[in-house]
Amino acid sequence: MADMSGRHGLVVGVANKRSLSWAIAQAAGRAGARLALTYQSERLEENVRGLAAGLEAPLVLPCDVTSDEQIAGVFAAVDREFGGLDFVVHGAAFAPQSELANPFVETTRDGFRLALEVSAYSLVALARGAMPLMERRGGGSIVTLSYLGSTRVFPNYNVMGVAKAALESAVRYLASDLGPKNIRVNAVSAGPVKTLAAAGISGFSGFLHAYRDRAPLRRNIDAAEVADTALFLLGSGGRGITGEVLIVDAGYHVMGV
Ligand code: NAP
Repeated sequence: MADMSGRHGLVVGVANKRSLSWAIAQAAGRAGARLALTYQSERLEENVRGLAAGLEAPLVLPCDVTSDEQIAGVFAAVDREFGGLDFVVHGAAFAPQSELANPFVETTRDGFRLALEVSAYSLVALARGAMPLMERRGGGSIVTLSYLGSTRVFPNYNVMGVAKAALESAVRYLASDLGPKNIRVNAVSAGPVKTLAAAGISGFSGFLHAYRDRAPLRRNIDAAEVADTALFLLGSGGRGITGEVLIVDAGYHVMGV
């Protein structure tokens, strides 16, 4: 397991105890990192504060990633408290429910814009905010969460697939921009895991069954496996890796039929 003692990290995208970002936060906390966690709305503040209470001296801050002001506020607070930043976990994604139920061809302009803004552009905005804080530490590591729906068609994943394609492309462009500053940018592409976001995808349990039946390992993955891979990329084990999308899906993606 990576040793993250003395490191400071920002984790965006914790909604509840099932969140993939929470699994990563727990793993990073166990490895010795000090963390700032964000919540999207007041509705979730109590949830996130409750979870964060189990971490060592956490910072808990509001951050709706559609707000430049809130993003700036997060980095100002992190800078004040941590004096720099070593890693960022980006686990924010959203698409309106109707866009995940209607045929993709019916995708609305507003739904498309919102899904791409929250799920892909936010990585660019967070990377830009993190950059000066990471430079001061001599580098850093950013990990986002993606899904195979970026390159393959999954029923009802729809505009989220387009958003994940944009996200994975953003990972490569950011890796190129930030690499000279020794800041690495990667994605973990997770197999399906039952979370709040997943519950919004009609027929999600069909994804779980397909993976269990057809993946080489003949099972689904869990959040802890995603977290271990994220920690590898965030820590020194992944120091030679950037611009990569690492797929943690029990091997499902290698199968033809
Ligand atoms: P989750 O617990 O629902 O996490 C999604 C997070 O995004 C929530 O904390 C949500 O907050 C946040 N979010 C939505 N809109 C936001 C905004 N405007 N500003 C800030 N945060 C916002 O579900 P999850 O499955 O762990 O998702 C985490 C990431 O993993 C996502 O990128 C997802 O696409 C990806 N992923 C998930 C799976 C899976 O099967 N679960 C597989 C592959 C990849 P609210 O709840 O308040 O909206």
